[in-house]
Amino acid sequence: MALRAQAHIDPAALAANAVTLRAVLSRGTRLCAVVKADGYGHGAALAAAHTGADWLAVATALEAAGLRAAGFATPRILVMGALSPAEREIALAARADIVAWNLASLDGLPSVARVHVKLDSGMGRLGTRSPEQATAVAEALAARGQLAGLMTHFATADVPGDPFFAEQLSRFTAWARPLNARFPDALVHAANSAATLAAPAAHFDMVRAGVALYGLDPANTDPARLALRPALRLTSYVAAVKACAAGESAGYGRRFVAARDTVLATVPIGYGDGWRRGLTNNADVVIHGERYPLVGTVSMDNITVDLGPGGSPVRPGDTVTLIGDGITAEEVAGRLGTLNYEVTCGLTARVTRTEVA
Ligand SMILES: *Cc1c(COP(=O)(O)O)cnc(C)c1O
Repeated sequence: MALRAQAHIDPAALAANAVTLRAVLSRGTRLCAVVKADGYGHGAALAAAHTGADWLAVATALEAAGLRAAGFATPRILVMGALSPAEREIALAARADIVAWNLASLDGLPSVARVHVKLDSGMGRLGTRSPEQATAVAEALAARGQLAGLMTHFATADVPGDPFFAEQLSRFTAWARPLNARFPDALVHAANSAATLAAPAAHFDMVRAGVALYGLDPANTDPARLALRPALRLTSYVAAVKACAAGESAGYGRRFVAARDTVLATVPIGYGDGWRRGLTNNADVVIHGERYPLVGTVSMDNITVDLGPGGSPVRPGDTVTLIGDGITAEEVAGRLGTLNYEVTCGLTARVTRTEVA
């Protein structure tokens, strides 16, 4: 049965993308599936279940707690983001690993906590830029038996041949290698999807891949070039088909006025579902394998599509594909001047996630 806004998630695509990523890893290198932001809009539990990863990473404490509540009892979960004291309690109650980069943050840390030390090798967000400070934190944790990992994050791994990537990698390597020789149980990890696919020297003991697992291109061009399979298809259906005479308009602000007699379909999906208003007069949909232009303003709950004058085979109830059937999240992102990441993350809770058989 058609629903007004439905994201169909393909477990086989998630599994295939995990295989594609594992194929570039050396034996022994782990794959950590990044399932933050509800699995980049795909559903965190689906992503966690179908990528077969024994490590999961999220950004927030509540995301970690959510995975445990959803039944993921055994995988190690790393909370990568900053944690307020209240959030740290939630993360630790969820038996998640956490990240630290200064000694003060170790005050009052319960002895069960497992901690990854973050060197800011150039991203300029979380972590310390000081290798000496990062080493001191790692030593303090190791002395308490709580050192779980040594990590960093790249700013430009998605830009082929970028010299800053090489600079970050060499800063991190210079810090992590000797420390890892002293503390061999600490997992060394740095790579996101882009670095996983492009830079074996950045793999270390584990890679943290998000976007590629969902079949999205880390460089926002075309997942097919990397043999990745998009795991999300976004559909709605034709709620109404009606004639629109030359000079008549559709939608708020009359941003579409028919230049000729035509037929419009009303499709019940809008920015309340994450189909953004920036797609006003600026997107295609696919019905019965044919592309039709979205015309007029994207409103909160509806869009209109120009079926063209007469003779269209489109009928009420027909399925409308907004992502899929040749329309990639990358294409939608390009029209919006943003990234594929933001397109799928932006799908709201009103979109029903369904696992396809
Ligand atoms: C989101 C995130 C990742 C995953 O990045 P992708 O580009 O989606 O693979 C890895 N590490 C950190 C610290 C992140 O915040």
